[in-house]
Amino acid sequence: MDHDALLTADRQFLWHPYSSFNNPPPVYLVERAEGSSLQLADGRVLIDGMSSWWCVLHGYNHPVLNQAVKDQVDKMSHVMFGGLTHEPAIELAKTLVRITPAGLNKVFLADSGSVAVEVALKMALQYWRSLGQPNKTRMLTLRNGYHGDTFGAMSVCDPVNGMHHLFSEVMPSHLFAPSPACGFTEPCTDENIAAFKQLIEDHSNTLAAVILEPIVQGAGGMKFYSPDYLRRVKALCQANDVLLIADEIATGFGRTGKLFACEHANISPDILCLGKSLTGGYMTLAATLCNDKVATGICNGEAGVFMHGPTFMGNPLACAAANASLKLLLEQDWQARVSEIEQQLKKELAPCQSYASVADVRVLGNIGVVEMTDTVVMAEIQKAFMALGVWIRPFGNIVYIMPPLIITELELRKLTSAICRVLADGEKYLGSALFSNG
Ligand SMILES: *Cc1c(COP(=O)(O)O)cnc(C)c1O
Repeated sequence: MDHDALLTADRQFLWHPYSSFNNPPPVYLVERAEGSSLQLADGRVLIDGMSSWWCVLHGYNHPVLNQAVKDQVDKMSHVMFGGLTHEPAIELAKTLVRITPAGLNKVFLADSGSVAVEVALKMALQYWRSLGQPNKTRMLTLRNGYHGDTFGAMSVCDPVNGMHHLFSEVMPSHLFAPSPACGFTEPCTDENIAAFKQLIEDHSNTLAAVILEPIVQGAGGMKFYSPDYLRRVKALCQANDVLLIADEIATGFGRTGKLFACEHANISPDILCLGKSLTGGYMTLAATLCNDKVATGICNGEAGVFMHGPTFMGNPLACAAANASLKLLLEQDWQARVSEIEQQLKKELAPCQSYASVADVRVLGNIGVVEMTDTVVMAEIQKAFMALGVWIRPFGNIVYIMPPLIITELELRKLTSAICRVLADGEKYLGSALFSNG
């Protein structure tokens, strides 16, 4: 099929994330991806600022990751995990237990981030049931959170961004504390934590767990909040007998400058969700870790087992990619690399701060965010970025990048200068401007 026929068939048959067949969004055909670049079928080469939604750590088409997957495929690409096991899964579990915050000793391998969240929620529910407190079924979470698209995960996403009203008849209703108002470098005052404290104290009898994204609220607004807030949440969970679930699906594996964002606050959750860059972006795999308290509690309960077991659980190919990716990450001075990217992002995005359409510029680790004063019209702004040779996909009023670790100084400059150039007249892309022009 030629280029146009392929795109016509795409529009006819394929859903894309959050897409419509009535008004299909533009999509671009990718032929190859290499290092930090996407090569489109029309010959264009774009520097990728998105790491394919936080996944790609070491760049595309990495020889070491390619080899790891090739070696594994020649042995077996999949076997069932019920009653069978294999070295790639065992090696991965050992590594994850070693590198994650202390006490997280048990690993459940799941197929995607959303499933890892479902597993975490089910662990919390089964834990309290096992302990003879079946009334502890609700979750407490934060506004502006994002935890995935399946039902359990969706029920703890921001009620507005997550469009809860569409599903309200069939979705459990949980508790939402305001998004933390204290920034990353600020202390958390009594006032900052007051609403959260009130909710957890008022509802501790029915609360199973608090679930949150530590330090960085990702898809719900790219907000960075105070480690002090997270420390206080952990203390309140302990004081009120509520489990803490940390969703590090986006923040894990160095993105925030620490291997895991919980380390900024020096806390360990009861349950931890990992995903996205776990395989270096090679394939879908996620993991839910829990501490011995949760594991023992569940296994001593009525069911005697944890009630979950996906068909593709512990997929050997994905585990092999994860092992190779983690080895690449841990064998390099990744902290220095993230810090270099952080310094460059801070310096080169700073000019945006003075633009009329820009509300805020913030950088943490290798995450660079420019918050606009209003929602941007994605299709339009994306075209402007593509004309400058970069792939940047904003959402809402957020223009952001989180490049892979292998990005060069020049490639990163191409991304930051494209952001500065396009946002210098960012008003053109604001929804309010475009909608008022019809
Ligand atoms: C992306 C994401 C998820 C969902 O992961 P999927 O692999 O898309 O199902 C959950 N939580 C957070 C914080 C995420 O960023």
